[in-house]
Amino acid sequence: MKDFNAANEIQDLQYFGEFGGVNPSISDSSTYTFLSAKTMFDTFEGNTDGCYLYSRHSSPMNIYLAQALAKLENTEAANVTASGMGAITSALMQVCKGGDHIISSRTIYGGTYAFLKNFLPPFHIETTFLNINNFEAIEASIQPNTKVIYCESVSNPLLEVADIRRLSEICKKYNLKLIVDNTFSPLSIAPALLGADIVIHSLTKFINGSSDTVGGVYCSTQEFIDDTKNVNSGACMLLGPTMDSFRSASILKNLRTLHIRIQQHSHNAMYLAERFEKDGLKVAYPGLKSHRNHELMKSMMHEEYGFGGLLTLDAGTTEKANELMELMQQENLGYLAVSLGFYKTLFSCSGSSTSSEIPEEERAEMGISDGLIRFSIGLDHDIHRTYEKMKECIHKVGILNHETISIF
Ligand SMILES: *Cc1c(COP(=O)(O)O)cnc(C)c1O
Repeated sequence: MKDFNAANEIQDLQYFGEFGGVNPSISDSSTYTFLSAKTMFDTFEGNTDGCYLYSRHSSPMNIYLAQALAKLENTEAANVTASGMGAITSALMQVCKGGDHIISSRTIYGGTYAFLKNFLPPFHIETTFLNINNFEAIEASIQPNTKVIYCESVSNPLLEVADIRRLSEICKKYNLKLIVDNTFSPLSIAPALLGADIVIHSLTKFINGSSDTVGGVYCSTQEFIDDTKNVNSGACMLLGPTMDSFRSASILKNLRTLHIRIQQHSHNAMYLAERFEKDGLKVAYPGLKSHRNHELMKSMMHEEYGFGGLLTLDAGTTEKANELMELMQQENLGYLAVSLGFYKTLFSCSGSSTSSEIPEEERAEMGISDGLIRFSIGLDHDIHRTYEKMKECIHKVGILNHETISIF
């Protein structure tokens, strides 16, 4: 892991435009001509490397972006999709067929949870949701038809960290695929190096970083990527969540600054988390020693990229959380918005937004309390100034060391 530096790998990828441009040219075509009919037949059969057929299958710019993201995750190959959900659903539908079983972390993105919980059962794919670091419970739930263990490296919104090495050992023992959504920790954690079989990102978040598009990617072996693009049986080819070439061009350009942005997001989040904690607030951040997965994250991460840009603050009640978020927005400290990875701080109350797909009792059981605010800390130049202003808002709203039970 120490020898692998994804930022260097990406930096070394050099693509020129058609006329020597410093950025690759965008191919503005849905379909491609062939010089011979035989080549067209071979391409349909999947036998011709470097030949483009139809842009739902592949397009030059999507291939460039996919290659760069495969470098990011140290996998053989990757495939980009129109959204993170497009990547998650394609990967899962490729691996699982009717009658199969999935074991998933119970603290995952609300959309993924809804897909596993509501959408798949009518297709006879059932999911058991568990605390992802309860290895005994996981092993006990493995059935002959289990195909996948699914988790997020750093979970949404509770920032629980999955022990990818341990999960990978279990997967190898029972011949399961380990699928890891690494959206919260690009560059910091490289799941494939720790044993994940498929690594997924919502590009919408840190990787693109400008909150101007949705996008996704799954990274894995060349064989798996080819399977998903097979014209007869590929989940991505047949479900069709294709990213547009113009979008992949802009995401590739933004990817070029990811290493700098992640360092700044992590630096700022650490600064605020440490001070909020000293102030006696209920803050959760994997960079804090008080976080129960602090040591685990340290053992998996690239130190130079830090513990990421996400932290949570428990305001006690939904009312206090809403009051604080509205005030912080008025003070121009960030935006009351879902999503993450933007230059500006974004905050939302998880229970009533991105995790609202999860029923109330289950949210409570997981520790998603009503007043839990998720912050995606921005790239603020002077984070001390931001801290001072946030502290003022917190005091105004009256959030202090209240007695609610800490989740970490
Ligand atoms: C946003 C998000 C997704 C879904 O991605 P979209 O691009 O919105 O489809 C999946 N997983 C995580 C962890 C996310 O934050």
